[in-house]
Amino acid sequence: MLNAVLISTYDSGRQPFSLGSAAAWLKRVGAAVTCVDLAVEQLCQDAFRQADLIALSLPMHTATRLATGLIEKSRRENPAAHICVFGLYAAINESYLRKLGAHSVLGGEFEAGLAALAERLMAERPMAGAGGNGGGPQREPLISLARQKFLPPERSLLPPLEKYAHLQTASGEQRTVGYVEASRGCKHLCRHCPVVPVYQGVFRVVQKEVVLEDLRRQVAAGARHISFGDPDFFNGPAHGLGIVEALHGEFPELTYDVTIKVEHLLRQRRHLPLLRDTGCLFVTSAVESVDNRVLELLAKGHTREDFAELVRLFRRIGLQLSPTFVTFTPWTTLEGYIELLETLSSLELIDQVAPVQYAIRLLITAGSKLLELAETRAIIKDFDEGELVYPWVHPDARVDRLFQQVSAALQEGQSLGESRREIFARIARLAYAARGDADGMRPACTAQGMLPPAVFVPYLTEPWYC
Ligand code: SF4
Repeated sequence: MLNAVLISTYDSGRQPFSLGSAAAWLKRVGAAVTCVDLAVEQLCQDAFRQADLIALSLPMHTATRLATGLIEKSRRENPAAHICVFGLYAAINESYLRKLGAHSVLGGEFEAGLAALAERLMAERPMAGAGGNGGGPQREPLISLARQKFLPPERSLLPPLEKYAHLQTASGEQRTVGYVEASRGCKHLCRHCPVVPVYQGVFRVVQKEVVLEDLRRQVAAGARHISFGDPDFFNGPAHGLGIVEALHGEFPELTYDVTIKVEHLLRQRRHLPLLRDTGCLFVTSAVESVDNRVLELLAKGHTREDFAELVRLFRRIGLQLSPTFVTFTPWTTLEGYIELLETLSSLELIDQVAPVQYAIRLLITAGSKLLELAETRAIIKDFDEGELVYPWVHPDARVDRLFQQVSAALQEGQSLGESRREIFARIARLAYAARGDADGMRPACTAQGMLPPAVFVPYLTEPWYC
């Protein structure tokens, strides 16, 4: 039997779908599987040292940076193991990960490739035992966009849901959160998005019956809120809506949240009441900027005016919007940053924005479509393998300084337990000071007493970021 250890280093506070799904596929081909989520538990050294296959899930930038040390540790402490990295960031960082010691790199719809690799390793084990890592040159596709027939993830091998982020409700209650994916990839080509270099404008669905079975198991394990991790829940609206209707039919008390782009929300506005009526507590939407030039460079497919329209639409319908931003880009001006804060204040959105959003700095990753732009090539430095990005410096030193100040203010505000409004006010004061405004000139959004009454917005205790 092949001993496989599947490792996740970080998945934004969610019980990792990728690990559960990989475990189900490996068990089906006869491997003995151990899962370790280092975000919430310790690595079992014995299992690690005895593993024939060590497979690391790399769905995001932070996870990949954390995993690089583990590849080196595997080489050192279990040199006979076959090391596989899989997920979105595995494919885009292939050459660096191979240099570190990864033998197989699987991106996109990775499960079938991982299962095929395990079967090959089992077939070749006598040879691997004679000194190699088994498997020979990789035969599985680096990026698979195959339409897989999914299996319900093997979540019994993962830490319990209580160990992960919770939903904070208005009543002060914390609800256990389950995490599912009903689709992967995306049919859009936003330039800054890490999904694009891998999926190149296509998305793949997880079959409805598989998603529903996964949901039932998580409800049985205690989930009272479900977070859908699809890059965009409305890439296939009929698929997504069919799932939430069935979910609501079976579990009418269950709430959920989804991520949908501005363009889809406006175009599919007729479906928004259905989201509201089936228990959708909030919709995360990557607004990114209120500067139309930046939105154009990112190829977001919406404008600042669309965003304002969306805010009004959500209020009319009674749905909660949770906008996210890339607040610091090489094209963000000091005026533009202040304009964002003032827009959020005038649209009465301060309570709806997680403070971490004010300090998100654009990551230019390997394979990013941003590299196609002369505007990007003019400001980036050579690829930094340690950081897994093309570093950039803002042409206006005041903006980079403000980023540092905002990051520090955010940390301080959070460590003091300040409200979203208090943190916003701190950050607004910094932004106006960076522009050189005198205290008396600063507008109402920097002063607590001058804002409309606060509204509580439900949120996950670990905010989304890349
Ligand atoms: S819509 Fe969202 S997931 Fe799709 S390419 Fe754009 S940023 Fe990425």
